[in-house]
Amino acid sequence: MIEYANANLMAVDTHVFRVAHRLGLSSAKTAIKTEEDLTKLFKDDLATLHQAMVLFGRYTCKAIHPLCENCFLKPYCKTTQSFKV
Ligand code: SF4
Repeated sequence: MIEYANANLMAVDTHVFRVAHRLGLSSAKTAIKTEEDLTKLFKDDLATLHQAMVLFGRYTCKAIHPLCENCFLKPYCKTTQSFKV
């Protein structure tokens, strides 16, 4: 059986994909290519980063009406203007 629980992998779901693109970490069109971009950029602790990006995307950088006004990543965001904050 393959052990994935502690593997250094970056799974790209809809939240990770959206956050990565809004922050300019990837411009890839697919989840697989986005995974490759993020893996090259961050290298280590990818499972932890994945979890952080999922929660950030779920509660702050939401697909509709992201909470940009209080976002700690706003200075680094590439798409802030599109949300009229
Ligand atoms: S500023 Fe807005 S769009 Fe940019 S990362 Fe933060 S919540 Fe997401």
